[in-house]
Amino acid sequence: MVLNKNGKYNNKNYHFNKKNALEVIKSILPYNAIPVPEDRFYENMQLLGYSDQDKANLVALTTILTPQVVGEELFSRLSDNLPSANAIHTPEAYKALPVRNMGFILNQQKNSYDLLVDKIFGQDTEKKHDWKGDFRNVFNPDSTKNIKLLTDFPGIRQKTANLMVLNISYYELFTEEFKVLNSNFKDIRLPVDLHTCQISMRTGIVSSDTNSFHGDMLRDYLRNNLDLTIREMRSTLDYCMISKGRLTNMIHRAFYNLGSLTCSPKKCDCSIVDKCTFVYRLDHKISKYHVDSKKQMKFF
Ligand SMILES: [Zn+2]
Repeated sequence: MVLNKNGKYNNKNYHFNKKNALEVIKSILPYNAIPVPEDRFYENMQLLGYSDQDKANLVALTTILTPQVVGEELFSRLSDNLPSANAIHTPEAYKALPVRNMGFILNQQKNSYDLLVDKIFGQDTEKKHDWKGDFRNVFNPDSTKNIKLLTDFPGIRQKTANLMVLNISYYELFTEEFKVLNSNFKDIRLPVDLHTCQISMRTGIVSSDTNSFHGDMLRDYLRNNLDLTIREMRSTLDYCMISKGRLTNMIHRAFYNLGSLTCSPKKCDCSIVDKCTFVYRLDHKISKYHVDSKKQMKFF
């Protein structure tokens, strides 16, 4: 893995096919209308009458727990665990929400979750920024370092940070003074998850000279190029009326839903994307994807 002078990965062996990207995105976009697991959790907080502050805190916090394949079960269990609106507004109540023994929550994820609770409530050891019990106070609309501030935090990587921002924008949870940011927040970027990677590899949006990809390099490369594709879409008549946040959300949700429902990690039944040909196998141990000629996904 080679880093260039800007700290970006050198990806001269990877190729981005913009024509494929535009075609695939347009054909899968209707999938964005299917609810994602977080939506049920959010609706339950609404029903219980949670304040925007608590909703924003929990939307951000639970993003840390999102594992790649069992989001549905996670958010359904979290929803069942929600206390009343009066009982939630303390660090202790936040920490009690994801039960460590839910089985699929890793200790590391739970530790990062607890650390972020402490940070939000100013109970952390290095009190660099006072968030006054409200995660949204991390945001400075004039800064381009919002994401960087989040990724400096243990357990929050680029995808998680982008997803936190995107979800807060989707549920329109920015504070009153920053409402305008709900749709056009400067730092909104596409969270590139497992599904986005796999669909992009399978449909030839991205290819590699060696027919294999390094996980981190691929995510970085795809995020940069898909963000540019989104910008290009928004310069056309069909999409110019859709805000950056809204279109980025639609595309993220379309990739997520297609990847969870039809073009899944284990097999691909998708007829919607006729370009879908290769199946790549993810080797978790080395975080590398390989072409699998037998079209069967195996996880290690
Ligand atoms: Zn497929």
